[in-house]
Amino acid sequence: MSSNTNSSGEKDKLSIAILGGGISGLSCASELLSQHKSTYNDSSSSKSYELEVTMFDTGRLRPGGRCSSRLPNDRPAVIQNRSSGTYDELQIPVNIQNAIYNYGDDIAKFGPVDHAAQILSSNNIPNFELQLEKWLEEGVVESFPEGSVCELLSNENEEKQSVELQPLNGEKMYYGKGGMGNIPITMRDYCLSFNGYGDEYTGQSFRLNQDVWVSPSNGVKYIGKEKETNGGYLWELRAGKKSLGKYHRLVISHNGKCADRIMSRTPAKAFHSLLRTKFAPYVPQNGGNQMTLNSIYSLVFAVKSEKTEGGNGGLSSPIAKALSNLSSSSEGSSEGGVYTVNIKNEPSLRLLSSNTLKHHHTRAQNSESDTEVYTLLSSPTFGKKFKGPQENLPIDLQQKVTIKLLESLEKSLNLKEGSVINSVIDIKVQLWGAAVPMNTWTSHSISKDEVDGFVYDGRGGVGACGDWILDPSVAGAWESGRRLANHLLTAQELDSKLSVGLPDKVPKEDSGKFIPSRSALGSGIGTIPTSPNSAEFVFPKSNDQQQSNRSRGGRGRGGRGNGRGRGRGRESNNDRGDKGQDKKDSKSNRTVYSVTL
Ligand SMILES: Cc1cc2nc3c(=O)[nH]c(=O)nc-3n(C[C@H](O)[C@H](O)[C@H](O)COP(=O)(O)OP(=O)(O)OC[C@H]3O[C@@H](n4cnc5c(N)ncnc54)[C@H](O)[C@@H]3O)c2cc1C
Repeated sequence: MSSNTNSSGEKDKLSIAILGGGISGLSCASELLSQHKSTYNDSSSSKSYELEVTMFDTGRLRPGGRCSSRLPNDRPAVIQNRSSGTYDELQIPVNIQNAIYNYGDDIAKFGPVDHAAQILSSNNIPNFELQLEKWLEEGVVESFPEGSVCELLSNENEEKQSVELQPLNGEKMYYGKGGMGNIPITMRDYCLSFNGYGDEYTGQSFRLNQDVWVSPSNGVKYIGKEKETNGGYLWELRAGKKSLGKYHRLVISHNGKCADRIMSRTPAKAFHSLLRTKFAPYVPQNGGNQMTLNSIYSLVFAVKSEKTEGGNGGLSSPIAKALSNLSSSSEGSSEGGVYTVNIKNEPSLRLLSSNTLKHHHTRAQNSESDTEVYTLLSSPTFGKKFKGPQENLPIDLQQKVTIKLLESLEKSLNLKEGSVINSVIDIKVQLWGAAVPMNTWTSHSISKDEVDGFVYDGRGGVGACGDWILDPSVAGAWESGRRLANHLLTAQELDSKLSVGLPDKVPKEDSGKFIPSRSALGSGIGTIPTSPNSAEFVFPKSNDQQQSNRSRGGRGRGGRGNGRGRGRGRESNNDRGDKGQDKKDSKSNRTVYSVTL
């Protein structure tokens, strides 16, 4: 074994700081640790060094980011109650007022609640497919029962408008057993398992610093210019006034305003230019020139239910009864109930999921009534229209959003007005302000045939991974982190400073670009399986034009009576570098993109 030692006889060390404990950061850490372990004592390895991976995550209780859950006994965050006074007085039913003033602290009383990512699929990423199979074997994920994931559609073929539930069978779909948040917890524990010391020491270590916000203003400082006197360290981190240490390499595994600001004062200008973010529910047809994230409301609510053996999987709230009736008339539905519904007949909504069915919530004992807990996700246009300060949403905004979303749900399920609203007993409203990328940065620095899937500035020793570089999904985030880890280790081994995916290449056509993520534009919540039913999505000339069309009452996408037939064309779910199927609309001479809505 060739061993590299410093003047004090100690082995060389590579320390890597990872900013963000979501799926991409955890996947990057897992791959760094496991790959390093497999070559640490390998005699054919040209270099031997010790690896220290340190992760910082803002999550108050645990890592996971946008793939996390609320768990029973979670202690609530301290939030100040305030009202913006901006919104019109609405007639808010007392049960909704009380539920919102209660801050949904008890919402996870009966079991885990998924408040962001809901469905896992491989999205044609072979490594993630293998990982899903492994997690299934280990009991980390469960398969959705056949027919339990459905689409809710308007049935426009009949005179009287009705709704139809169509099961999504075919593609394998999973969810985190005991909550989506158990996936990052499993990944964290895997990373921690490398911390064997003494005789057990295998050359790697992992530290996770939870509830730490690396400051956007002064949290990241490049110290590479003085690296000779700094032990080779390139980066120094801070949280407020507290130093978080010096590191040889830096990984940015989060996105949004924070990542943009964190890198803005460093010399890694080209790298930083990719982190500049804007917020919109759409991107122009050419993908735009900036990372664009949408905003999504997540409404977790508990409703009263009667104890029964019938209904949807034994549940009997108005929602469960409606789903049970709809599924009994559709072929291929699950007898165990409808777990998750992609909503395509209401423009404000995107998805409804039953936490009670997925996570086998305990039922209240000695009580006539029972409780069902659902997660309802809004459309990105709704998220933009009612955007507020996500850390502290004013009470009146929460009330307004809640009523509007629940009214839309009643309409989408053809339920009597007030039937859901009146049975609500608890609510937790949350805005994911930087929710899902609408475009992905796509470069081919390593191979012409495959997209890189991560970004790396070789001179600065800083890389980025996440769903905005490969595919807007858990699968995309996971694979992006894995690819960056492998590049970091290869570069270290070969003493290479190869940059990947930076936009400063000459000639320009070799540089990467942002391409529209058709799956995310279609579903609103990332790449999730959809049926082949598609409608034509017309790219606006500019975002502004699209928005002003909508505010003038322009047509809603997938809304009731939008006049489009179903089953018009098929579209792949895969956004990783494949070209869109544009065609010319002969009447307007506009280019239309066919996407699954
Ligand atoms: C409402 C919603 C529904 C979705 N549904 C699905 C779905 O059904 N299926 C699917 O595949 N995908 C879904 N997605 C997308 C999926 O959740 C994401 O693509 C994926 O989880 C992104 O992982 P990530 O690691 O790239 O980023 P993140 O999960 O955002 O992780 C970044 C982490 O960095 C932390 N952080 C941020 N700033 C700092 C800082 N300064 N210092 C330290 N830490 C910091 C954050 O707290 C976070 O924990 C959904 C997303 C949303 C919002």
